[in-house]
Amino acid sequence: MSEKQPTSNPEEEPKIPQIESSPEEIGKLRILQIREKYLQPLEGEIEKTPEEVRFITKANEWIEQELKELQIDTRPTRIKPEQVHILSDAGWETEAGWGNHDDAYNKAYGNTIIIHSERVQGQLERMAIILHEAIHLQSHHKFRTNEDPSYRDGYMAENQSHETSFEGFNEAVVEGLTMHLMYNHEKELESEFKIDLENLNDNLFNYRNYVDLLSLIVTDVAKKKGESMEVVRDKILRGLFSGETIHLQDIEETYGRTALQVINYLGVEGKSQKVFNFFSEKDDDKRNIIAEEILKKTSQ
Ligand SMILES: [Zn+2]
Repeated sequence: MSEKQPTSNPEEEPKIPQIESSPEEIGKLRILQIREKYLQPLEGEIEKTPEEVRFITKANEWIEQELKELQIDTRPTRIKPEQVHILSDAGWETEAGWGNHDDAYNKAYGNTIIIHSERVQGQLERMAIILHEAIHLQSHHKFRTNEDPSYRDGYMAENQSHETSFEGFNEAVVEGLTMHLMYNHEKELESEFKIDLENLNDNLFNYRNYVDLLSLIVTDVAKKKGESMEVVRDKILRGLFSGETIHLQDIEETYGRTALQVINYLGVEGKSQKVFNFFSEKDDDKRNIIAEEILKKTSQ
């Protein structure tokens, strides 16, 4: 009814001035223009509660603290409350399109988080989603360069044909950190946000079964390498923000040389359950058979 009109029509995005700029400078300019758009309310914007606004600041602090603990030497990207948009169904359609059935997503270019108001109801659900997407943004900003058109977000990479790899594994790591931070800060959630901690449980988290898989991998790798689970976990977390991937070889060492190809199918329809079976199987021969089933090319 009183929906605000977007301040700028996406079709009429300001033209890039014809100045002698390097491609890199033009890239930066475009990013600034897009960021400017997402600092304003969007069509169908639902006003955030004061708690949601305060939580966005809190999420930044938690992530920064985590980066410090992981000894990640990077300037953390803070997300402003104005850059988080909770949209009505109509607003979502305009912004995300008809076909987008997600609950929320982030757009690294705009440094923005978009949430579907009806699909993510409840204060705590929204907080968990905001934190999850903010972690994605933080992990992404490390990698983006203007010269490289491929897209990388933590462990997930997308090539120019929009083929992605390690998408499910990336979600597992991001959600694992989200859950860790939420549970670790439960006292703050209770005292500062008046959250009833009975509602803080694993069901809040969309990718909790991926996180279970990740925990299984961390346990097995720790045993194989003779390291503590904390050491293994921190290496995986650091990779999310640093781009290091060398430690993934430990997963191959633990489960065999197909393990990383298999993990690529986490989240792929019709294959995901088999990925769980692969990592749960203790017998090498049986595990190899499962890997063959996952990796065999389908005729489609
Ligand atoms: Zn995600």
